[in-house]
Amino acid sequence: MNPIAARLNEIRSALPAEVRLIAVTKQVPIAAMRLAYEAGVRDFGESKIQEAATKQESLQDLPDITWHLIGHLQSNKAAKALQQFQWIHSIDSLKLAQRLDQLAADQKVKPQVCLQVKLVPDPSKFGWTTDELFADLPLLDQCRNLDIKGLMVIPPYGLPAAETKAVFDRARELAQEIQQQGWSHLQMKELSMGMSDDYPLAVGAGSTMIRLGRTLFGDRPPTA
Ligand SMILES: *Cc1c(COP(=O)(O)O)cnc(C)c1O
Repeated sequence: MNPIAARLNEIRSALPAEVRLIAVTKQVPIAAMRLAYEAGVRDFGESKIQEAATKQESLQDLPDITWHLIGHLQSNKAAKALQQFQWIHSIDSLKLAQRLDQLAADQKVKPQVCLQVKLVPDPSKFGWTTDELFADLPLLDQCRNLDIKGLMVIPPYGLPAAETKAVFDRARELAQEIQQQGWSHLQMKELSMGMSDDYPLAVGAGSTMIRLGRTLFGDRPPTA
């Protein structure tokens, strides 16, 4: 029995069918990624460009994978990111959005992207505050080579459940507020939120994409 398939079935049976499950495979060996693929996973999330490139090379025989970039992207790696990923969840500044927009035009691609927001102060996280995001919306709406789909949020680590849920609720409300402003290009239908420890709360709050690592693959080795 494929152990990852068993775990996936367990998780999926408690999820609404429309929630997209992204298997986060940073530091996960290729063999485990293949097991996830055999179990039906087609969405893989990576946080680093170089690690993803190595894995994509090893998994070239599996052509129907959708690759999601979920980690902070430095602008000098933006061109590579566009070559390697169909989704970028972690656009966290206007400058990065505009750079990706320009490069996407050059490369003739149109990546699907989320805007990463920071809804409570958190020095360890990237992303727009609500005020910053509203100020940047007119220029984001001009990024016509990006298919802007929604918001991504990561609550601060270790927040009590009620406060974590409040962050997810706030993200949903923010997406609705933006949607109601009627931008010609910005879509706010996707909410990329929920990780191993908090995804049931995120799904309850309206998440459409959950990003699961440890609960599928076990603990990652401690980072040095
Ligand atoms: C690592 C990571 C995840 C997965 O975290 P788990 O706790 O292992 O489920 C999800 N999203 C982002 C942005 C990550 O960096």
